[in-house]
Amino acid sequence: MKINIALIAHDGKKAEMVSFILQHKKVLNHATLYATGTTGSHIENEGFKVEKLLSGPLGGDAQIASLVATKALDLVIFFRDPLDKHPHEPDVQMLMRQCDVHNVPLATNPKSAFYIFKGIESVFEE
Ligand code: PGA
Repeated sequence: MKINIALIAHDGKKAEMVSFILQHKKVLNHATLYATGTTGSHIENEGFKVEKLLSGPLGGDAQIASLVATKALDLVIFFRDPLDKHPHEPDVQMLMRQCDVHNVPLATNPKSAFYIFKGIESVFEE
């Protein structure tokens, strides 16, 4: 089974994203990865192959929303920073709305992502 996963992290959450991907190499190595620009660079630095889109504030979240709307993604991991302001908040809202419109799983914090990945790992172990 090949899954398509989008990874996004606000600046205050990028370290948590790096830590998360290093803990889930098994699933991620089976997946096609997409990411917003800066998050994608961090992911690449850890040795993963990733399709980098625009940086979030420049339209990267909107691009990922478009992939959700066209059924190109199976899962969105978006570590949001609720303690910071973001000029592209409308795009963030649009992305989350598109996930709900198209019933695409969305994890907005590491614990949620952890449990989603537990579910995915159990599929690979079958
Ligand atoms: P970035 O975008 O990965 O380019 O930093 C993330 C975001 O802020 O949505």
